[in-house]
Amino acid sequence: MAKDQIFDNTEIAFALKSDSELERAYFLFKMISIEPLVKIGTAATNFALKAHLPVEGLIRSTVFDHFCGGVSENDCLPVIDKMYEKGVSSVLDYSVEGKENEEEFDRAFNMTLKIIEFAKEKEAMPIAVFKPTGFGRLEIYEKVSSGKHLSDSEQKEWLKVQQRYDLVSKAAKDNDVMLLIDSEETWMQKAADDLVTEMMEKYNTEKPIVFNTLPMYRRDRLDYLKDQHKLAKNIGYYLGYKLVRGAYLEKENERAEEMGYPTPMCSSKQATDNNYNGAVRYMIENIDDMSIFIGSHNEESSYLAIELMANLGLRNKDKRIWFGQLYGMSDHISYNLANKEYNVAKYVPFGPVKDVMPYLIRRAEENTSVAGQTSRELSLLKKEKKRRKI
Ligand SMILES: Cc1cc2nc3c(=O)[nH]c(=O)nc-3n(C[C@H](O)[C@H](O)[C@H](O)COP(=O)(O)OP(=O)(O)OC[C@H]3O[C@@H](n4cnc5c(N)ncnc54)[C@H](O)[C@@H]3O)c2cc1C
Repeated sequence: MAKDQIFDNTEIAFALKSDSELERAYFLFKMISIEPLVKIGTAATNFALKAHLPVEGLIRSTVFDHFCGGVSENDCLPVIDKMYEKGVSSVLDYSVEGKENEEEFDRAFNMTLKIIEFAKEKEAMPIAVFKPTGFGRLEIYEKVSSGKHLSDSEQKEWLKVQQRYDLVSKAAKDNDVMLLIDSEETWMQKAADDLVTEMMEKYNTEKPIVFNTLPMYRRDRLDYLKDQHKLAKNIGYYLGYKLVRGAYLEKENERAEEMGYPTPMCSSKQATDNNYNGAVRYMIENIDDMSIFIGSHNEESSYLAIELMANLGLRNKDKRIWFGQLYGMSDHISYNLANKEYNVAKYVPFGPVKDVMPYLIRRAEENTSVAGQTSRELSLLKKEKKRRKI
């Protein structure tokens, strides 16, 4: 079946949306496609939240409800159940960012454990996730990554980070729940990567449970994947990787320029695409040794994966291959793939409104900068409005 025939069915894509939700989504994408509006809106929202102005209600009824499942994990239950009726699983994502103290790290750690427990009971939630800076300060990852000497108190702090990784990975294995670990900025990532590799070696002995993330806008990640494959094969454990293109392109390029080192980013969108698709190909061709989570809103990459699966005679619902999108984005990929029995999971972010603002701002900016993607969302929503004669 051709790509457009698979992803263009808007009746399947938006079956869960009421007419008014469809209208709201259309309005929202229309707004965030206007770059100056996003810039002004972001600044005004940040200011209003800092000044304790009563804007939470407005944020909730617009961007928040579109991109998030709720303020607590229990709030998300109706969303999880509704999506699962259409075969789409959920990855509950505690999206509180920018917290910098041990109490907050323990809170994120306990939340991850709670979600793993929750997931054990719920078929619709086969996967849990956390992000490295949820479990420790960015500066401590940065220092460990650079190989600099840690003071006594820093050593203790790092030990706590290591323990948090180990305990959630063990819980994931004990409860048979896949655990994804997000990727962040390159300058702190080596410490997290080494730690996740250790977790894979320890807990992926029978099957892939712990997954690292490969941001393929990095020039070096395809070689890294191949090196990690050799290592895992030699030692005897399974690899798990979520593939993404990467969310920090501008920040990475700006820092490299400011500090005068060659950017670790690919030199063009095409180069990132080639790298991403190369990794999809490599992983599916070596699927007996690993499991892949294709975290993308890109139709070509998703289509490439299903073509490769068909060519290799893999079943659509092969447990080792997952497709993932973010809640509120690219429903045409998620629901049309699920309709054909592929494994699909959507990240469902949740948390207090003001704490998930950095996440929401990234989504707004991403949809502004990825002009093609937004116009795609808009044209599909328009098509469905027309079909429903709204
Ligand atoms: C389920 C899921 C999980 C995610 N987890 C993470 C995560 O852990 N860490 C993270 O960083 N992001 C994560 N993301 C966000 C992800 O990185 C962005 O959604 C993604 O970059 C958008 O790319 P795309 O694959 O949808 O395709 P597209 O929209 O086709 O690609 C856009 C991306 O291409 C790259 N790009 C654009 N222009 C250029 C250029 N000039 N040069 C080089 N590269 C360019 C950038 O990465 C840009 O974001 C996740 C996304 C999903 C769906």
